[in-house]
Amino acid sequence: MWSPAQLKQAACGRFLPLFVNAPGGGCWLYFGPMSALPMPNWQLLADETVRYLRDLIRLDTSNPPGNEIVAAEYIARILQGQGIAPVVIETAPKRGNVIARITGDGSAPPLLLYSHTDVVPAERDRWTVDPFGGELKDGFVYGRGALDMKGITAMQLAVFLAVARSGRRDMRRDLIFAATADEETDTNQGIGVLVERHPDLLRAEYALSEFGGHSMYIGNRCFYPIQTAEKGNVWMRAVARGKPGHASVPHPDNAVVHLARAVDKLARARLSMSITPTARAFIAGLADGVGGGLGIALRAWLEMDALRDVPLHRLIGDPGLAAELYAITHNTLAPTGLRAGYKTNVIPSSAEATLDCRTLPGFASHDLVADLQRALGDDPAIAFEVDSTGEAVEFPLDTPLFRTIERTLKQHDPQGIPLPYMMTGATDAKHVARLGTICYGFSPMQFAPGESFFDLVHGHDERVAVSALAWGVRVLYEVVSEFVAAP
Ligand SMILES: [Zn+2]
Repeated sequence: MWSPAQLKQAACGRFLPLFVNAPGGGCWLYFGPMSALPMPNWQLLADETVRYLRDLIRLDTSNPPGNEIVAAEYIARILQGQGIAPVVIETAPKRGNVIARITGDGSAPPLLLYSHTDVVPAERDRWTVDPFGGELKDGFVYGRGALDMKGITAMQLAVFLAVARSGRRDMRRDLIFAATADEETDTNQGIGVLVERHPDLLRAEYALSEFGGHSMYIGNRCFYPIQTAEKGNVWMRAVARGKPGHASVPHPDNAVVHLARAVDKLARARLSMSITPTARAFIAGLADGVGGGLGIALRAWLEMDALRDVPLHRLIGDPGLAAELYAITHNTLAPTGLRAGYKTNVIPSSAEATLDCRTLPGFASHDLVADLQRALGDDPAIAFEVDSTGEAVEFPLDTPLFRTIERTLKQHDPQGIPLPYMMTGATDAKHVARLGTICYGFSPMQFAPGESFFDLVHGHDERVAVSALAWGVRVLYEVVSEFVAAP
C-alpha cells in the first residue's frame, strides 16, 4: 500500500496516480506521466497473468478430446466480471471459443489478439509435478500449456483487460480478444470454423499470436524472432505397388522393396529452394548479429549462388542451426511411418510410407508432388496420395505494427536483436490470414541464457518463468497500447 505522503509526492511530481476498479473488488493503482496515458502497475499485471495461467492449466483441455468449453467459460466469467460482454461459441459440442471486443473510434481497422486454449496430452508418469496442477515452484509455473500456449492466452487476457480498465478515449482501432479451440490437431474445430462462420467477429487488419517475441541465444547474442511467415504442410503417403506372391520364391517386383528404395531416395532428395523475404531478413540479421566467422559464412551463403549447393552444416559447423536454416529455405520431406505386409510368408501387393512434407510460401501441394516425382525419376511403382494440406503464409515486414514491435523490444532489451522469422510448423495464422489479416507471431517472453522456448514446448515438465511472463506482459501491453491508437 502507498502511504498518503507517497501518494501526495507522486501526484505533485511528474506522475499521476489513478484508481480504477480491480478484479474481485478493490482498486488498481496506475501511474503515468501527467501528459500521457496512465500505465498499469506492472507487478499487479504480472500477478494477474500468473493467476490466469495457473487457473487455465488446471482446466484440462488435452486435445483430443479438447473440451475447451471449460477454458472459454472461465475466460468469459473473468471478462463479465470486469464489465465486458464476451461471445461464447461452441463450434462442436464442448469445443468452446470466446471472443470479446473493446471498441475504438473506428478510424482505423481492428487489432486482434488470438490464442488457442487446447493443449497436447501429457504423459503424467513422466512429469515431476501434476501437469494439470498449475504448480508454482522455484519461480516457474509448471503445467501442460504453460508455453503452448496458455501462458500467452493469460498475457493477452491481462493486456486486453488492462486496456479496458484504462478507460482511454484515444483508441482508433477496436481491440479484439479471441481464445479458441482445436489448434493442436488437424480436425479444425477452432478458429478455422469461426473464420468461415463468424468472420465479422474476427476481421482485423493485424493480429498477434504465437510463436515469436521470445528470446533466443545464438553465440552470445540475444535475438527475438518474430513470426512473419509459416510453412505449409502436405501430409501424404507414398504407395508402392508390386506383384503379390509366396515369400519362399522371391521376385523383384516386391512392393516392400520398391517402397524401401523410394523412401531412401526421397529422404536424401533436395527439394525446391527459395529464399523468401522473411528467410532473407532472418539470415542477414543473424549474420550481422553474431558477426565473426559464422556471420561471414552466413552472409556468403546468402549472397553467393555458387555456395548454395554446399551443405550448410559444412559451411557453418552448427548442425542444429544448419537444419533450421535449411528448413526455412527449402521444401522438405520427412518419412514418419511405414505400413506393409500382414504375414511373414506373403509378399504383399502394396506398401506405404507416410510422409510429412512442408512447403515454402509460394509453393502449392502439386508443386511439392512434382518435386517428389522429379526426385524419384518417375518411378512407375510409386504413387503419391495427398491426405491433407495447409497453405504456407508470409506477411509483409514493412508495416507500422512490425516497427512498433521492433522499437518496443529494443526499449526493453537494447542489446537484443528483433528478427523476422519463418515458423517451420503450423499455427492458426493460416486460418486468420484468410480474412486478409496480417498475422505476426509475437508473444514476448524473456528467458535466461541457456533456456529455450522450443526445448520445453510439448515436452515433460513444460514450464515458464514468472519473470519471463512479467517481462512479456509489459512488452505486449506497450505494443498493443501504442498500436490501438495508431492510424
Ligand atoms: Zn500452439
